[in-house]
Amino acid sequence: MTKAYEIIRHTYDAVVVGAGGAGLRAALGLGEKGLKTACLTKVFPTRSHTVAAQGGISAALGNMGEDDWRWHMYDTVKGSDWLGDQDAIEYMCREAIPAVIELEHYGVPFSRTENGKIYQRAFGGMTTHFGKGVAQRTCAAADFTGHAILHTLYQQSLKHKVEFFTEYFTLDLIMDEGECCGVLAWRLEDGTLHWFRSHMTILATGGYGRCYFSCTSSHTTTGDGNAMVLRAGLPLQDMEFVQFHPTGIYGAGCLVTEGVRGEGGYLTNSEGERFMERYAPHAKDLASRDVVSRAMTREILEGRGVGPDRDHLHLHLEHVDPAVIEERLPGISQTVKIFAGVDVTKEPIPVIPTVHYNMGGIPTNYKCEVVTLKDGNPETPVPGLMAIGEAACVSVHGANRLGSNSLLDLVVFGRAAALRCAELVQPGKLHKPLPPDACDAALARFDRLRHAKGSRKTAEIRLAMQRCMQTHAGVFRTGEVLKQGVEQLKGVMDSFQDVHVSDRSLIWNTDLVETLELENLLAQAMVTIVGALNREESRGGHSREDFPERDDENWLKHSLLWLDERHNVRIDYRPVHLYTLTDEVEVIQPQKRVY
Ligand SMILES: Cc1cc2nc3c(=O)[nH]c(=O)nc-3n(C[C@H](O)[C@H](O)[C@H](O)COP(=O)(O)OP(=O)(O)OC[C@H]3O[C@@H](n4cnc5c(N)ncnc54)[C@H](O)[C@@H]3O)c2cc1C
Repeated sequence: MTKAYEIIRHTYDAVVVGAGGAGLRAALGLGEKGLKTACLTKVFPTRSHTVAAQGGISAALGNMGEDDWRWHMYDTVKGSDWLGDQDAIEYMCREAIPAVIELEHYGVPFSRTENGKIYQRAFGGMTTHFGKGVAQRTCAAADFTGHAILHTLYQQSLKHKVEFFTEYFTLDLIMDEGECCGVLAWRLEDGTLHWFRSHMTILATGGYGRCYFSCTSSHTTTGDGNAMVLRAGLPLQDMEFVQFHPTGIYGAGCLVTEGVRGEGGYLTNSEGERFMERYAPHAKDLASRDVVSRAMTREILEGRGVGPDRDHLHLHLEHVDPAVIEERLPGISQTVKIFAGVDVTKEPIPVIPTVHYNMGGIPTNYKCEVVTLKDGNPETPVPGLMAIGEAACVSVHGANRLGSNSLLDLVVFGRAAALRCAELVQPGKLHKPLPPDACDAALARFDRLRHAKGSRKTAEIRLAMQRCMQTHAGVFRTGEVLKQGVEQLKGVMDSFQDVHVSDRSLIWNTDLVETLELENLLAQAMVTIVGALNREESRGGHSREDFPERDDENWLKHSLLWLDERHNVRIDYRPVHLYTLTDEVEVIQPQKRVY
């Protein structure tokens, strides 16, 4: 196999796969530490999905009222519905403050308060005094915070001599006796194949929203790194937890940031009622995302949706001063105008809950080392492999992520990965020899799909998967609907054996790219839906109508999910870290849910 394709070899101390916020923050940190670093990305760095993040990044700076990182930690643990690992959450909330100040120093153009401090807005689930008041904790650069952060981090990475390999599609991890020794990648521009040897491979490949029909993420958000991990025989964690954002634009899926409700926007049903007051009398429209999404779905199911099909709801901004909208939410007005044809200063925005974030992913500890279950120990690090950002499950978001905690996760753990890598890897260390067939399995898969001669189109199979996931693993789930979904998805996976790739070339073959991405998505869809069927309780983003209560006695644990070549899922568990790193905070014990 190796002979059929010529492979160009590279050696690095560290390889980062992904140039979104997480990948860039790690790459720049590795550069600062003097490690020879390659950053591979399938799209130009500043086109990564992070660019679309609007609302902001959380940190208890206290610029606009009192705040404390312990309150931030409390909110995050509570938001996670107690599935988050408290050591990692403590680390993230404490490090948030220096991490955001560091971003400011790197050059992120944050919006400002009158006295020149970083502007902070209210976001769902963010409180003061352990749930008593409303915190203004989300630092924003108008409504293009992700854009501002991504561009700044890219410039800083260039400054620190990170070597970028742009439009290199990473195919698979190269594993040797349980250790990751780098990756195999395909250069789209000229069709060459590249083997990157490295002492540390850091996966920062983002989420997998594209498993679903309606999602807010970009078309490239296909969770390739997660699928590589599954193919390497390693587990993914908590994949059943998928976040639906309450306000995707009806029909298009594009996001309307929670910042809109943070600036005073509110939802109504067909009777003009501000229905969130009924579901969450205290937090109302700013209750956490799972709560608002479920309330909206309930309103629609009970016939109080708006529009001819009564299948969506209204989000109002007409009462907000147009000058405030112009200053704080300019991008939103534009997106809504383009995708819904609505002027936000005059009419309500048609919205519907839409897939937005994947809480699950590659299990890691708070130092970002990928872990697996070995000899009964679920905390065993996989040598040579780390994961960060939305691809990883640290797990700081547990069963549900709070808005503005993801951008924070990217920069805090991107930085942590670089620090840990610098402890583990000595710059310039020689690479051990590998067997000559080390790349064979990865090449064989690539070659098989390149020459796939079946009868089914990639787009057709993808649509079948997306519809299946939307219908069978949506906002509300039941055992029966999930079971049907698993069977249906098995059929879709089988149909992939009959896929047809019409372009056989190696240069900018988008047909093959989409087919490789689809194979990755299918694997993740399967572990997601099987994980959802297996978890017989309701927690955070996972809401089972047949098991409506959270069940801490049986389910206060992370799921670990493996997928074998025959599409069978194996399930095991990992304990939730109910301990902290320091004695500056106490463990937050599970409480009954009150909204
Ligand atoms: C519309 C929208 C708005 C959001 N707003 C906010 C917000 O206001 N605040 C907040 O905290 N969070 C927000 N989020 C969530 C947050 O933006 C994402 O979770 C986060 O940006 C993910 O970053 P990442 O670095 O993990 O991955 P991404 O930014 O998705 O980047 C993935 C990278 O991996 C690369 N890659 C993937 N596969 C391969 C492959 N096979 N080979 C090579 N490279 C590959 C890609 O090229 C890309 O560079 C939002 C998300 C969306 C979709």
